[in-house]
Amino acid sequence: MSQNLDQTNAQISQEETVEKQNSKYCTLNLQNQNLLYNHIYNEHKFKKFIFAFFVLVIVINFFCNLSLLIANFQTQQVIEEYYYLPFHQLDFWGAFLFALSEGCVLILTGIVTLDSYKIYLIIINIGGTLIALILFLFNPEFFEPASHWIEYSVQLLLTLTDFLFIFQQDKTSLMYKYRYCESFIIIVTFIMAFIKLFIYGNIIPTNDDGERQAHYLEYSGEMINDCFVIFFIVLQLNQENTNILETMQMQLDKLLELNGITIRQ
Ligand SMILES: [Zn+2]
Repeated sequence: MSQNLDQTNAQISQEETVEKQNSKYCTLNLQNQNLLYNHIYNEHKFKKFIFAFFVLVIVINFFCNLSLLIANFQTQQVIEEYYYLPFHQLDFWGAFLFALSEGCVLILTGIVTLDSYKIYLIIINIGGTLIALILFLFNPEFFEPASHWIEYSVQLLLTLTDFLFIFQQDKTSLMYKYRYCESFIIIVTFIMAFIKLFIYGNIIPTNDDGERQAHYLEYSGEMINDCFVIFFIVLQLNQENTNILETMQMQLDKLLELNGITIRQ
């Protein structure tokens, strides 16, 4: 009798252990799932905030370029006499902050990874515009030509970087859909950036000061680059919104399923 009881006890305790182990496993699994959903949700939310910040920076940059373009309609004499310094400071700061923001967006979206050769393009863009800015800040009049040469050379690469926004992403995106039209705009902007070097160096003669004519091409080209980045970030923002909603829906479905609740359609 006592032997039988012992056997039963042993059986019960074994079943209990298996049950306990199973339930522990289930709770852990459930906890993991919840943690995972929370992690995915937070990641999308973080990206959304960062994209919103950068779209703001680039929109501001667009209007700074528009202001520079308007100010450039004055004669070179007026520019140099009344607002030479803030005009050029805004020019060089704008180019640097644009390259920096563009690089951050490309890395954040995974279009440029740290182990790919494209990262060197980003480094040259940021580094070149930073050198131009620093030299100009050291001594505006002494370093202005050197700063412009560096800036204008880097802007050739900055224009080519726009191709990454079109061809290195989701093939179903709106930007990919209009790729040929956008590529045409980029090629025209690239030719403009190339001509700008010749005009600035007075190889292509103009009736006016070469620098002022080069500025027209510079600011309009930068505004086109701004538009590409703005368009791209807005699409990414929408994507993050969709991702957030999908994660929330999945989490809710799981919760309802666990509680045995079905929603009538
Ligand atoms: Zn200048």
